[in-house]
Amino acid sequence: MSKKLLLTETCKFKLKPTEEQIRVLEELFTTYTEMVKTCFNFAIKNNVTSRKKLHKLIYRKLRSKFPDYPSHYVYTAITQALSIFKSYRRLSRKRRNIKQPEIEVLNVVLLDDTHLFWFNWKHLKIATHKGHQVIPLIVHEYSEKFRGWKVKGSRLVRKDESYWLHITFRKEIEAKQPHGVLGIDVNEKSIDLAVVKPNYARFIKIDISEAKYVRDRYFKKRRNIQRKTRRKRRKLLAKYCGREKRRVDYALHKASKIIAEIVAEENVRPVMEKLKNIRGRIRYGRKMNRRLHSMPFRKTQLYISYKSMEFGYEHEKINAKNTSRICPICGELNKPNGQLYRCKKCGFEADRHLVAAWNIGLKSSMWGALPFPPKAAHDLFKSEVERIVIKC
Ligand SMILES: [Zn+2]
Repeated sequence: MSKKLLLTETCKFKLKPTEEQIRVLEELFTTYTEMVKTCFNFAIKNNVTSRKKLHKLIYRKLRSKFPDYPSHYVYTAITQALSIFKSYRRLSRKRRNIKQPEIEVLNVVLLDDTHLFWFNWKHLKIATHKGHQVIPLIVHEYSEKFRGWKVKGSRLVRKDESYWLHITFRKEIEAKQPHGVLGIDVNEKSIDLAVVKPNYARFIKIDISEAKYVRDRYFKKRRNIQRKTRRKRRKLLAKYCGREKRRVDYALHKASKIIAEIVAEENVRPVMEKLKNIRGRIRYGRKMNRRLHSMPFRKTQLYISYKSMEFGYEHEKINAKNTSRICPICGELNKPNGQLYRCKKCGFEADRHLVAAWNIGLKSSMWGALPFPPKAAHDLFKSEVERIVIKC
């Protein structure tokens, strides 16, 4: 039997409640906040992180306090309170002086999959203290892809003056059996790819320098904005921040889509390096630090792995050690200089990022032993590099 991959994604639907329904929803938010607050205070007082224990302590009390509300709200309030408590505990272990969260106004009501709501692409039916409310919702074109997916859970969200339903959809996909790897090296100005198969290789450079340019320009603007008054600053930052983010995001999505299509077309496993602890482990100067963290590498990797999964391909993360230094021909360790990789032992020369992509691909657990004798690698590196430019 083949392996199944689980795709999970959240989609937002705007609700169109009547005046009367708005009153009901507002009461629900108020009551739910109180439920979560009570659960949270109990959890913190008794230092409980187990759902079972908290449930035992609090269920009856909340049921008798709010008898009109469907009992399942108590369940989800416990879940939400525990998640707030746990993340507070986690944070306060890492750092001192973390303030205990005050639960005053909650803008999220957690609903679970079958007891509190029903969704049919036209309406949300929600269980409340005033019976079942049927609230129409707006379906946008981009939500259409989720038709046929399973509804796993949802949240009712209040934002400014409007109400939203965030639904988590899930789909099962049959995993493909890849016949080779795609080594992916994510850099500031390019994403470099090496398709490596037992008898074949292909090199692709995806130019994302425009996304970097947009970010750089934004950083300059931001530095200027820092000098302005606080109120003006906040407004301007929000404006530029949003615009810049959208443009860069768009470019990264586009690049990731191309990469996922190559994965499917070549039937290969996407392989990337682990980025873990880049921030903590190495300390660079301020300038270098900004440069290192200015391109959202992690996000790019996330998009690539998600989009590949949509085609049925699971990604692999490998340890980045020496991937930019080891010679694909003779195994010597060299320090790349500029864009060029040059081996001081065997004289091999190639683009440094393509060498890295190759090395990342070859670190995959898919290869039992090295698949190529050195000469083959030498020949494969002669194939022409394909170039794709991404515009923001
Ligand atoms: Zn060499």
